[in-house]
Formats: sequence, C-alpha cells, structure tokens
Amino acid sequence: MEILTTVYGHDRVKEVLRRAFLQGALPYQLLFVGPEGIGKKKIAWGLSQILLCQRLSDQGVACGQCSSCLKIQSGFHESILFIEPEKNLIKIEKAREIQSFLSLSHDEKARIVIVDNAHFLNQQASNALLKLVEEPPARVYFFFITHRWAQVLPTIRSRMTKIPVAPLSEEDLSRWMEPSNEATELLRFARGSVKELLEQKQEESSMVRQEAYELFQRFFSDKNYLILGDWRDRIKDKDKLILYIRYWLTSLHEYLYQKNKQDGFNQGESLLPHLRGLMDYHDDVIWSLWEKGLTLEAGVLGHRDPVLLLEEWLLVTEDKQKKKGFSYELMD
Ligand SMILES: [Zn+2]
Repeated sequence: MEILTTVYGHDRVKEVLRRAFLQGALPYQLLFVGPEGIGKKKIAWGLSQILLCQRLSDQGVACGQCSSCLKIQSGFHESILFIEPEKNLIKIEKAREIQSFLSLSHDEKARIVIVDNAHFLNQQASNALLKLVEEPPARVYFFFITHRWAQVLPTIRSRMTKIPVAPLSEEDLSRWMEPSNEATELLRFARGSVKELLEQKQEESSMVRQEAYELFQRFFSDKNYLILGDWRDRIKDKDKLILYIRYWLTSLHEYLYQKNKQDGFNQGESLLPHLRGLMDYHDDVIWSLWEKGLTLEAGVLGHRDPVLLLEEWLLVTEDKQKKKGFSYELMD
C-alpha cells in the first residue's frame, strides 16, 4: 500500500496535495507546519512516493510495489535527499550537500530534498539555499518540515507554500490503543501527537505518571500532607519534577474541561480518581493553580529552589478558602 494512504488522519491535507499533484499545480516548495509527532514527515515521504512511483494510478495513488515505491518504503531512494539536524543545528555543510545533490544531472521523474526540523537551519545554511529554493532546477521539490514555524528564517518561509498539518483528533489517535480507562487518559495527554502517545505508553512514563498523580491527589485531599508529608524528598530529581508538573497541569486542564462539558459532574464519577479532591475548591482556585503552575514550571527550569516554588504554588489553595470551609492548619 502507498505511504500516504497509511498516514492516519489528515484527510484534507492528503486530498489537497494529491489533487494539486494531479492538476500539475503542486508547488515545488512546501513547508509542512504542525505540532511534533503527528505525521508531517510521513506525509512528505508519501508525497515523494507519488512523485516517483513508476506505476502511478490515474487517481494519483502510488502503486506501493514498483522498485521506486519499495525503496521509499525502506527509507532510501537515490532521488531523495533527507536532511535532519545534528545536535539541533543544520549547518552550511548540509546546505552544500543539498547543492551537490542537485548539481548532478538526473532523468528521474523528480528529485526531492526533505529537510526535517527546518527551524534548525542556521542563517548561513539558509542563505546558501535561498536561490535554490526560490528557483529550483527542473523537477526538483523542497519539502521542509517544522513544528516551530516562527523560528524558520523569514527568508525561507516567504519562499515556501505553508501546509498546516493539524494535531490528530482523539479518534484518529485511538487507533493506537485498545479502549480502556487508561487509553482515554493517554489520548488526552497526547494532545494529538502520535509521538507523545507512544511515549506515554512506555512503562516508565506510566510509572512517573502514577507517581505524579499520587502526589497530586495527596496535595489536594490530605490537609496534613503539605505540611508533614514526604513530598520534599520525592521532588529532588529535577527532571522528574518537570514531568510531574506537566502531568499536574494537564490534570488541572482535564478537570476544567470535564467540568465544563458534563452534566452530573457533581458526583465526580467521570473524573479520574486523583482529580476528585479538586471538587472541594472553587473554580477560580483551580484556574489560579493552572496559571501559576506555568510559573512553577518556568521556575524549576530556571533552577530556582523547587521546594519553595511548590510551597508557593500550593499556597494558592490557601488564599481562597475551600468551598467546605476548610483551610490548611498551620503548625506552630
Ligand atoms: Zn510505485
């Protein structure tokens, strides 16, 4: 089967590209823009397959079986140059590699330069490519891919046609999961990214997530835990703490989302167990927690003392009384 057909979701993008190709209107410079891990690279390879297939159907579907299709499926084809950053940089050497790749004469149907993470092209490399990108040699295509559109140099951006690739829907993503409570939760965490979903499925992520939930649950349901609890020891690993914070933020987000969406929320039955403690708080407390959670994350990343930061963050719950008239008892 051709690659483009096997890309999950993105039906509109696929159709637009295929139609443009059939009408002979496919631009030679495409910039695929969208979040990480949603299939942009696969779309670029799929489109390349259509351009190079030796037995393309009248509907513009690659055969998936000719030598050209098979090579592309294996990830190598002599008419495709795939460029990706090394240590977060695409330097002038890579631009030279592109120049020399394109200087060879060829009789293929097309030659394609795919640049992944194009926002890492540095100024020098970008400058070296400008003219080529602006006026590519005959039958040469540039497919650039980025999840940071604003960081792609404007001189490059302005020479390319932007193809927005949206995050996948939960329905699209759910094809990777057997239905279960955990699946529902992971799908929400993945925020439309297959890459994120697959990472979340790893056992290690699952453990960190459970730890994060446990802490979260205790912060918001056990009044003594903040004062007496062992959480100070449990947040010593900074990398882990960052992950915890991200899970906490997503949890708060999830809570607000559920609350706005569902009837019968009062019972909290539809909530994940660690979120139920939040029902004792006013919504404005939850919103503050969420907002200040972003500051918390920035503070931890900025090497400030995590214990102080967390205490500060959790103080939000004390500023405003709990709905049920409860407040943390401060020790002498
Ligand atoms: Zn083919």
